[in-house]
Amino acid sequence: MKIENCRICSAPDLEACIDLGRQPWCNDFITADQVGLEITYPLEACFCNNCGTLQVSYTVPKEIMYCEHTYLSGATKTMKEHFQKVSDYVCRSLVKAKGLVVDIGSNDGTLLSTYRNNGMDVLGIEACKKPAEIATQSGIATEIGFFNYDYAVDIAQRRGKAMVMSAANVFYHIEELHSVTKGVSYLLDQDGVFVVQASYLPRLIESKAFDIMYHEHLLYYRVENLNYLLNLYNLEIFEIEEAPVHGGSIVAYICHKGKRPISSKVNQMIESERLHGYHKIDKYKNFNDDIVAMREKLVQLIGDLKGAGKMIYAYGAPAKGTVLLNFYGLTRKEIDLAVEVNHLKFNRYIPCTNIPIVDERTVDEPDYYLLLSWNFAEEFFRSEAYQSGKRKFIIPVPEPKIYHK
Ligand SMILES: [Zn+2]
Repeated sequence: MKIENCRICSAPDLEACIDLGRQPWCNDFITADQVGLEITYPLEACFCNNCGTLQVSYTVPKEIMYCEHTYLSGATKTMKEHFQKVSDYVCRSLVKAKGLVVDIGSNDGTLLSTYRNNGMDVLGIEACKKPAEIATQSGIATEIGFFNYDYAVDIAQRRGKAMVMSAANVFYHIEELHSVTKGVSYLLDQDGVFVVQASYLPRLIESKAFDIMYHEHLLYYRVENLNYLLNLYNLEIFEIEEAPVHGGSIVAYICHKGKRPISSKVNQMIESERLHGYHKIDKYKNFNDDIVAMREKLVQLIGDLKGAGKMIYAYGAPAKGTVLLNFYGLTRKEIDLAVEVNHLKFNRYIPCTNIPIVDERTVDEPDYYLLLSWNFAEEFFRSEAYQSGKRKFIIPVPEPKIYHK
């Protein structure tokens, strides 16, 4: 369904600027009998000329997107360490009292476990059954559902107000964005802190991380847009930091309006966004030209390697990899298979590519691995296989290039 009005300010002033073609829902890692039956949707971003928010033009119904989710946030060490650092800062420096922590889109409970380590009561809300079950098994109380205003009222009645609320890499997923934000404002204790972690649009553009644009990511935040939305519900950002995860993210610390002094960093970041032109559509039209050029380079590189008889596998099958492969038109003809460590993805296929996903431990080393989780390249460069010179990576973004020892 194509949107007519801006998701943040409701103005009808949207203009298309980034086109990634038709794409399947990227997290739908399908079984063998579903190959060839994938449904595709246009993946296009538009810019609101009224409030300056970049957003996806088409909505895939959330019930389709979240019922068979295979992303497990506990899967990487980098993310675990990052979550623990944020939790330590919140519990030691921002909220002095022990209380309830509610995580929206709590996945497998990785983030909440860091708050439990700090002695807090935790409650996860997760729409997707499998990760919710994994969380519950590891002792993290998790309810299956979609958080919104009514849900917030219900939690407040059962559990009281929340000292900490959190939305990590889900705050842009949400169709009911306004109801969710209103719900946070209702459920959050007057002295509480709401922590939003999201990909930071200027870093995404700088690092050419177009593959983080997918149907689940309805919005691409700058500090200015996020604050605009929060202000509508009497919330505001009082502290902000950048984190080097997911291709460049922000961690925004939010309170009820007027409750805490506002760090000068918040305004500095907004000014910097304007200085670099992120509030104008031209920035995004130029970005579209850049990624088309990047695609031509990588497709050429892979074509040359295949021509020389080389075997190429994909390393990892993240959601972003689906976007990259589909935008580049790469299929099993070029990439024989993808290896994974997430067992939920074994024996499935990357949609619209016919590329099977297999357990990393069961395959021999190919000539090259196309690194689809290129944002975690540093972590993979530390591996023994790479350090010993056995493994060669093709890194697709921001500059298609082969890396080896
Ligand atoms: Zn707008």
